[in-house]
Amino acid sequence: MTILVLAEHDNATLKLDTAKVVSAACAIGGDVHVLVVGHQCSAVAQSAQTLQGVSQVLVADNSVYEAHLAENISTLLVDLAPNYSHILAAASSFGKDAMPRVAALLDVAQLSEVIAIVNADTFVRPIYAGNALATVQSHDAIKVMTVRASAFDATAVGNNAALTTLDKVFEAKTQFVSQSLTVSARPELGNAGIIVSGGRGMGSGENFGMLEQLADKLGAAVGASRAAVDAGFVPNDLQVGQTGKIVAPNLYIAVGISGAIQHLAGMKDAKVIVAINKDPEAPIFQVADYGLEADLFDAVPELIASLG
Ligand SMILES: Cc1cc2nc3c(=O)[nH]c(=O)nc-3n(C[C@H](O)[C@H](O)[C@H](O)COP(=O)(O)OP(=O)(O)OC[C@H]3O[C@@H](n4cnc5c(N)ncnc54)[C@H](O)[C@@H]3O)c2cc1C
Repeated sequence: MTILVLAEHDNATLKLDTAKVVSAACAIGGDVHVLVVGHQCSAVAQSAQTLQGVSQVLVADNSVYEAHLAENISTLLVDLAPNYSHILAAASSFGKDAMPRVAALLDVAQLSEVIAIVNADTFVRPIYAGNALATVQSHDAIKVMTVRASAFDATAVGNNAALTTLDKVFEAKTQFVSQSLTVSARPELGNAGIIVSGGRGMGSGENFGMLEQLADKLGAAVGASRAAVDAGFVPNDLQVGQTGKIVAPNLYIAVGISGAIQHLAGMKDAKVIVAINKDPEAPIFQVADYGLEADLFDAVPELIASLG
């Protein structure tokens, strides 16, 4: 059994999610390889070589792969697929873009958002917005999976896996035009240790400035409920929940968020949940480790002041 993990990176730095997906791959058992596809990405390949449990890192380094277009990556993965029993990627925007194409081209069923490995062909994944867990068995010869990275600890570093360079280049007709990225000095929502999240109760985008101040004091990322996003308070890349980001920080502070199941689906695995809400009946208090029944416009400034 040989397992291939598709690395996620920006051509300079390997994302932590890859180390978590490697942990999932190690739980399956067998040889674990990591595929780094990109351009001028040798530093990423070197980081991948250090991941414990990885026996080989494959590198496809070409200008064609610079923008990480799923059309090119999926064709490369399909070419490599006959050597592998499993192909894994994080259930991030990147993984969710590439892997369904791989599964379709191989004519196998994708296993999505896997959160636990039972054995080499049986996996656990959430359904109904995380309200039920399905244990699914795959009979496909090659198992194409996305892994919910927040469900696995990152594998340790300190390894020195072998490096193999891939020469074949796969170029689809799709052309990369441009991308506009949100530039933020705060940690990335998906990997943040602390998240301060605001809901409709914030009342406006301007009031989110308060949460940004709190986040900066705590070294936290800022998140939001869908209602806050839909109301235009904040951009939709901050959305946490079933149709947003799935996060599992050490501390999640929910401010003016009611705690709808679709929101809980994205944050209930946080280690400590703090809720600030003026409604004692708000469902968020049922999952909160610490609940503060208060007006957020009093509580948040007090919290900021007390943090010095
Ligand atoms: C298919 C589907 C997918 C969805 N996906 C998502 C998702 O990914 N993420 C998500 O978040 N939602 C999602 N939703 C929407 C979800 O059902 C809720 O509508 C949404 O989460 C509500 O957001 P909220 O808690 O901010 O707003 P509300 O439910 O309106 O809650 C606002 C809260 O703020 C409190 N409040 C108001 N003023 C104050 C104050 N001054 N001080 C303190 N507290 C105050 C209120 O008591 C209330 O509890 C989805 C819905 C559907 C149908």
